[in-house]
Amino acid sequence: MQQTADQLIKVLALDKQVRAYLLRNTNTVNEAIRRHDLWPTATSVLGKVLSMGQMMGGMLKGDQALTLKLNGNGQLGNIIVDANSKGGVRGYVDFPHVNFINKDGFFDAMGIGQDGFLDVIKDLKMKDLFTSSIAITGDIARDFTYYFMESEQTNTAIILAIQVDVDNTCLLSGGLLIQLLPNATSKTIDYLESQLSELPEPSRLFKESSETILASLFGEAYEIIDSMPVSFLCPCSKEQFARSLLTLGAKELTTMKEEDHKIDIVCHYCNKTYHFDEQDIQQLIKEITNEKK
Ligand code: ZN
Repeated sequence: MQQTADQLIKVLALDKQVRAYLLRNTNTVNEAIRRHDLWPTATSVLGKVLSMGQMMGGMLKGDQALTLKLNGNGQLGNIIVDANSKGGVRGYVDFPHVNFINKDGFFDAMGIGQDGFLDVIKDLKMKDLFTSSIAITGDIARDFTYYFMESEQTNTAIILAIQVDVDNTCLLSGGLLIQLLPNATSKTIDYLESQLSELPEPSRLFKESSETILASLFGEAYEIIDSMPVSFLCPCSKEQFARSLLTLGAKELTTMKEEDHKIDIVCHYCNKTYHFDEQDIQQLIKEITNEKK
């Protein structure tokens, strides 16, 4: 099925008392499936956390970045997502071959587990990283809503949609995040609550156009303040892994060269393999010994 381009729309609404992020990221999720060979429950969970990454990334500026880590001691193990402010996101689960799907749903909670934490780590390009940690229930939208309330004192509504086809491709993925700004009146809150309660279930909602979704929430009282392309993007490179190999030291690298004649390193985030042959390893050893002189 031909998909439209992935996109994040930022909106101010209801007399600037509300901000919203509307995300369509089906291609992002299909790229994650392709790279990690995700089975449906893994797709549902990682897809939704990638959606949270892209929407929360949209709240950042410049070269700020964030990492989302979930571990509830479930079958998927760690669920890790990195996002930047420009719509780029990457992520993985420890165990991608997890599937509990049936007619009743994906059973995210069985994949994530319900005994553990969501960590949100923000790199705002200040001296220290900002880290918040909350206990999770395994319901991703609910857990992030709780995170925003606990850690950012912001009242937030989150809707996450994902649909997977029988051939294990993602048919539809999207997210909607709505936040009350500090000036929101009780009238606006009541209005928004009633509009939200009228919305169809998530996968039906995201079959509608973005205009229809925004109009059904805000009528005409909204303006689009930004619209940007988003994608699955891993900035890893052979040079980056070469630098981490240097930290092993000349002795260790020489042993690896003589015993294995090669080093293969897999990037966790995108599953790409970087191959270092004997010549590459010799070059690294040379760099270390030259530095010591
Ligand atoms: Zn990578």
